[in-house]
Amino acid sequence: MENCLFCKIIKHEIPAEIIFENEKVLAFKDITPQAPVHILVIPKEHISSPEEISEANSAIAGEVIAAAAAIAKQQNLEGYRLVFNCNEIAGQTVFHLHCHLLGGRKMNWPPG
Ligand code: AMP
Ligand code: ZN
Repeated sequence: MENCLFCKIIKHEIPAEIIFENEKVLAFKDITPQAPVHILVIPKEHISSPEEISEANSAIAGEVIAAAAAIAKQQNLEGYRLVFNCNEIAGQTVFHLHCHLLGGRKMNWPPG
C-alpha cells in the first residue's frame, strides 16, 4: 500500500536491519528498541491492524507468530513477549500489522 512505512520497508525503499525474510513474512529491528532485543515481525501483505484479521486471512497471523518464535529461539531468548498494538489508544502508530518481539530483559506485568 502506498504511503505505508512498513510496505516501503518490504519493498526496500526504506532501509531496515532485516533479521529474517521469507515469502510471507519480514522481520527487522525496531528503530527505537524498548528492550535489548526488539524485532518487528510483519506480514508482507498489507493488513492495517489486528482488527482486519478475518477467517479469510488469519493464516498469516500464525505465520507471523511462528516466525517470531523461531527468531526468539535463534536469538537464544530465555523468555520473550509478543505484542500487537491495536489502535492509537493501545499505542499503535504504524497501521500495518506488526508483532513486537521483545526480550533480553525482565518484563513487567501488567504493562503500562
Ligand atoms: P506501534 O507503536 O505498535 O505501531 O509500533 C511501531 C513501531 O515501529 C515502533 O516501535 C517504532 O519504533 C517502529 N518504527 C517506526 N519507524 C521505523 C523504521 N523506519 N524502522 C524500524 N522500526 C520503526
Ligand atoms: Zn503496509
